[in-house]
Amino acid sequence: IEDLNKMGLIVKIEDIMHRTPICERSKTPIEIIPMQDYYLKQLEFAEDLKKQTTKMKFHPEQHRKLLLDWINSLKIDWPISRRRYYATEIPIWYCARCGEPHVPPPGRYYRPWAEKPPFERCKKCGHNEFIGEDKTFDTWMDSSISPLFITKYTRDAKFFKKTYPVTLRPQGKDIVRTWLYYTVLRCYQLTGKMPFKRVWISGTGLDEKGEKMSKSKGNVIDPVPILEKYGADRFRFWCAQESSLGEDFRISEERIEAAGRFITKLVNIARYVSSFPQPRRAALTPTDKWILAELSSTVRRCLEGYKEFNFFIPAVAVRNFTWRIFADHYIEMSKQRAYGRGFSESEQRAAWFTLHQVLKTILLMLAPISPFVTDYIWRKLYSKKSIHTEKFPKPKWDRRYTKYTKEIIEFNSTVWKIKKERGMSLKEPIEIEIPRKLRIFQKDLKAMHNIISS
Ligand SMILES: [Zn+2]
Repeated sequence: IEDLNKMGLIVKIEDIMHRTPICERSKTPIEIIPMQDYYLKQLEFAEDLKKQTTKMKFHPEQHRKLLLDWINSLKIDWPISRRRYYATEIPIWYCARCGEPHVPPPGRYYRPWAEKPPFERCKKCGHNEFIGEDKTFDTWMDSSISPLFITKYTRDAKFFKKTYPVTLRPQGKDIVRTWLYYTVLRCYQLTGKMPFKRVWISGTGLDEKGEKMSKSKGNVIDPVPILEKYGADRFRFWCAQESSLGEDFRISEERIEAAGRFITKLVNIARYVSSFPQPRRAALTPTDKWILAELSSTVRRCLEGYKEFNFFIPAVAVRNFTWRIFADHYIEMSKQRAYGRGFSESEQRAAWFTLHQVLKTILLMLAPISPFVTDYIWRKLYSKKSIHTEKFPKPKWDRRYTKYTKEIIEFNSTVWKIKKERGMSLKEPIEIEIPRKLRIFQKDLKAMHNIISS
């Protein structure tokens, strides 16, 4: 300013307000300096990529839009070189005289700034001195080719042909613009094909208030102490039942603890069921047929969810069935029969058979979500081999009996409510009419509620 003043070039001096970008961490102003860098062409591939992505199935389908929106928003090619110390080195040497870039033969990792170049003379001017590149790649430059690495691209043609494109890319919503997009771009550029058949995109885990976790905000929840306190099965079960696939979810220890109570409930149910023998066959009563019908419809629901990789569906279906139908109603309805109090041997065996059938199927349905506790119970009760070598159960029981579910739940709840209102214990005798529709279950219902005829 002094120099300008001396030369008489200053017209006026005034204060103005202007925006200055600052560093996210240190908060110091950022100075923008134009520099030469490497770019990977992407704009000219955008239309092709959009067409190609229709070959991949998205779970959930609505998250396809995240990728398409990103492709549509691209304005420049992808700058791939960085001035960082810890990253993948860019394998290029430059002629010290004419600057001609030289790329070494493929097949191994190069560190051009530290190694002797694998060339004798410059291919352009014949000079014999080279300068190694000291820049590194953007981190997504090599994480974007993981599907090529695992399918042995350029290393084993037969294996590659058999395994590429790979079945599934599971990943978070927050890296669609980076990991997913760059993988699609790079693999398409190299192979002409999409890298995956299916893309699975989960939501983001937020803090208790629904805010994104970040180091600078200090609201990051460390999963390790939670895993140590509640165990992997409870944590996994909580995670599966907390939100439908693709939706963001809040992480709260209270909710993890609450969701984990289902695992305790399951262990208690297994302990009860394990106190009875396992008959190979039995003449089923209507109550048994009813719970097996509900079981079949739960298996179907689980299959639908697993086919979509949406673990929310089986987690909720198994919990509701196990806790709210099997434990609350069937186990209570069949208890006197299972203990043989006032029932024939055949009826008792039918209860034992059904209890074990249902427990086995619950374990199989839940095994992908809570693998440890289900395997533990399975090996204790049913097999020397792991539950994870078993086939998924089929909905093999007649589902027509599910038409009674609503009435059964309503009737039982009514009886419990009346007894509670009258200050009676659940075992005390009560005079109440069993609805016509539920007559086929009356023997179990009478025993369960101690219903006496007037
Ligand atoms: Zn040269």
